[in-house]
Amino acid sequence: MDLLNTLVDKGLRRELPTREEALAVLATTDDELLDVVAAAGKVRRHWFGRRVKLNYLVNLKSGLCPEDCSYCSQRLGSKADILKYTWLKPDEASQAAAAGLAGGAKRVCLVASGRGPTDRDVDRVSETIKTIKEQNEGVEVCACLGLLSDGQAERLREAGADAYNHNLNTSEGTYGDITTTHTYADRVDTVQRAHAAGLSACSGLIAGMGESDEDLVDVVYSLRELDPDSVPVNFLIPFEGTPLAKEWNLTPQRCLRILAMVRFVCPDVEVRIAGGREVHLRSMQPLALHLANSIFLGDYLTSEGQAGKADLEMIADAGFEVEGAGEVTLPEHRAAAGGGCGSHTDTAGGGCGAHASAGCGSHQDAGCGSHEGGGVCGTAAAVPAGEPRTDLVAVRRRGAGTDLAPNA
Ligand code: SF4
Repeated sequence: MDLLNTLVDKGLRRELPTREEALAVLATTDDELLDVVAAAGKVRRHWFGRRVKLNYLVNLKSGLCPEDCSYCSQRLGSKADILKYTWLKPDEASQAAAAGLAGGAKRVCLVASGRGPTDRDVDRVSETIKTIKEQNEGVEVCACLGLLSDGQAERLREAGADAYNHNLNTSEGTYGDITTTHTYADRVDTVQRAHAAGLSACSGLIAGMGESDEDLVDVVYSLRELDPDSVPVNFLIPFEGTPLAKEWNLTPQRCLRILAMVRFVCPDVEVRIAGGREVHLRSMQPLALHLANSIFLGDYLTSEGQAGKADLEMIADAGFEVEGAGEVTLPEHRAAAGGGCGSHTDTAGGGCGAHASAGCGSHQDAGCGSHEGGGVCGTAAAVPAGEPRTDLVAVRRRGAGTDLAPNA
């Protein structure tokens, strides 16, 4: 296909595709899908080889948020039966982080629900960052605390944070349909504050909220303009008890096309498969590693993920390798610019993105149950693509905020 040859050439040169080309990727047929994956895979391997970066979420404060993000199980009025707790203590957070690092993660994403931190919250998280860094040499830390106000990004940077996550989530045109308590411009402002403070910016999206192809392309082009070092791609987990509970409209093929489009538009950026990986990609997860170079290990903020061991086996079986602590994530030109992982003394770039990944922005999250060892959870045989898969969504009941061991 001429389209794919053009997109590969542009991706290798870091040249922006046209909007028509990005839309054409989303419009490809199932017959063309493997060719699309192979083409975007060339771009992925050019910039990131066969490495997969593992990130680990620690939910510092869960639920009870005053904001009304429709996708979020922690939102105001959410009826989702999630864990609710206030700030973890620095030692508790460090213990949770250590489990993820022992499982192979190199970045820890510290996420808290809420509109944004108070200055006292920033003190609290700064203490947690210092504790984690003292107790885990070489770890990258990303904070994800919502909208930042004056001086907060700088204080987090001084405390040792490498990155800050705040997702755009969806296009500017549809943002008001998803959230009314803050604006798209507020989100852009926070990403810019993080950038300006020398933090590696992480900002991504949530697909599957009823948006059009044009909306998806809009948000990805806006992200390219903001130039984050990492872009988490969340696939909506339609939580029971949230306004988007009925939005089951993704298929594994659609998820692959979206990831390919993001890779073509943001070729040299850490593209992370975030919340919803197990629920929506299901048995196609290994194929998605040809597009993204980063995933979350273990559980998400409010839902369970595939067993950490199954993630590691999947990566090895698919012929990829877990990125080591000493390896720089980003390509040289980006790392040298002070960007993400691999830059600020080794930073990060990713971020939670997981508030489902999406940072607070999006604490949505996904995950399937825990089915040990397994890959994709789920038992149901022959459920048509795009049908509700509530059987794959399990609320997190272990790890941070509980007495049970985390999944890593
Ligand atoms: S995404 Fe963040 S700000 Fe929005 S409701 Fe969830 S926790 Fe609150």
